[in-house]
Amino acid sequence: MAAKTTPHVAILSNPDMSHLIPLVQFAKKLHDHHQISSTFIIPTYGPLSAAQKTLLSGLPSAINYILLPAVYFNDLPPAIKIEARVFLSIARSLPAIRDAVKSLLDDGKKLVAFVMDLFGTDGLEVALDFGISPYIFFPSTAMSLSLFLHLPKLDETVSCEYREMAEKVKIPGCIPVHGKDLLDTVQDRKNNAYKWFLHHAKNYRMVEGIILNSFKELEPGPVQALQEQEANKPIVYPIGPLIRVGSKSDDNLEPNLCLKWLNEQPRSSVLYVSFGSGGTLSYAQIIELAFGLEMCAQNFLWVVRCPNDGVSNASFFSIQNFDDPLAYLPQGFLERTKNQGLVVPSWAPQAQILAHDSIGVFLTHCGWNSTLESVVNAIPLIAWPLYAEQKMNAVMLHEYVKVALRLKVGENGLVGRVEIANVVRGLMEGEEGKGIQSRMRDLKEDASKVLSENGSSTKTLAELVNKWKNK
Ligand code: UDP
Repeated sequence: MAAKTTPHVAILSNPDMSHLIPLVQFAKKLHDHHQISSTFIIPTYGPLSAAQKTLLSGLPSAINYILLPAVYFNDLPPAIKIEARVFLSIARSLPAIRDAVKSLLDDGKKLVAFVMDLFGTDGLEVALDFGISPYIFFPSTAMSLSLFLHLPKLDETVSCEYREMAEKVKIPGCIPVHGKDLLDTVQDRKNNAYKWFLHHAKNYRMVEGIILNSFKELEPGPVQALQEQEANKPIVYPIGPLIRVGSKSDDNLEPNLCLKWLNEQPRSSVLYVSFGSGGTLSYAQIIELAFGLEMCAQNFLWVVRCPNDGVSNASFFSIQNFDDPLAYLPQGFLERTKNQGLVVPSWAPQAQILAHDSIGVFLTHCGWNSTLESVVNAIPLIAWPLYAEQKMNAVMLHEYVKVALRLKVGENGLVGRVEIANVVRGLMEGEEGKGIQSRMRDLKEDASKVLSENGSSTKTLAELVNKWKNK
């Protein structure tokens, strides 16, 4: 049995890349800077994708992982929301989570904290049963976290659907936001997904602390509001931006293809187009985007997914898509744009791409990891939010931080080719683009400062770790 001297952290994470990626960075920091080892406990709901396998198999030896037996959803209606599946995968894995924690303790690990991902708060009862301090790792914005903490009050005081409210919703410290732009999960209060969400939001007040992947210079109002003291409010630790740094072993079938192509393009000349780990467009929207890219006459690198059938996060559970996405592009598109752009099916080494000199603008779904990856590389954004909290992120990035332009959706529900071409050109060539670029460069500097030896995020993490080590 190993001696109980080295502090160890148990991390409960759902297996999706956007949750695993920042948590792995967090675990690496704990080890590299503070000699704290960790074990990921990961509920599963099917086979892992190639990207997930690569990420986990590349973990350093101080970071272990336990994959829990897959949970099944055969008893649920097929139309159940994806968020509900994520909540349930953790709730249904509780006995296995308990066994995993027990095995760590039996193995002699000195567990100083139990860190749950944002929808993992059902793990709270396991942490409390074993007497381990519970924490939440919040991988998104301070604005979303402020909404989580405020939601129980909103639920008590608002009787209609939030999207039907005449006034914009006021979340502490944040710019007012229209109810229809709040998280997807709160859009239908009668749906069970909302009830589970509210249940998690209430649990947020029961943990010892919340680790936040953001920083004050990026979201001054929301971070300040989160740090104001209030009864039953856990301490919030902003330690971001935690992002994945591109590595040679990145999870792409042909990792060098994009980078080789980028090496041949002029500096800041390429528009990168990607909708995160799970975002998909309809067939009609793919066609509009393709023509929009062609019309804008700018270089582009586009990660294309197969079209969905009306569900914008259709590939969230199956990044391994065996259909060929390129088959859905307009006829002759690849030939016509062969000197203008590169189209990559399904998945690309994004961290390396955004760090490349030839990237000028990122057309993004506004997932928070993608946004932070842009911030640290000073890449201006075009916001095309699809699902989850992405509309809120887009509002914040466009109206508050002012580092993104937003595409308008037409009356037919599609973003039209002319709109796409105009906005891309406006940001890559126009005056508006220059202001956005300069704000992004300032943020890049801020990000680098907060992560430096005496920066606020570095100090905040050290403060948290000292608390754990002194237990
Ligand atoms: N990602 C990637 N290649 C892709 C698509 C996504 O490496 O082709 C990575 C991206 O760099 C980011 C994460 O997957 O770290 C996506 O997280 P984000 O929060 O942006 O979006 P989500 O997947 O939650 O929609």
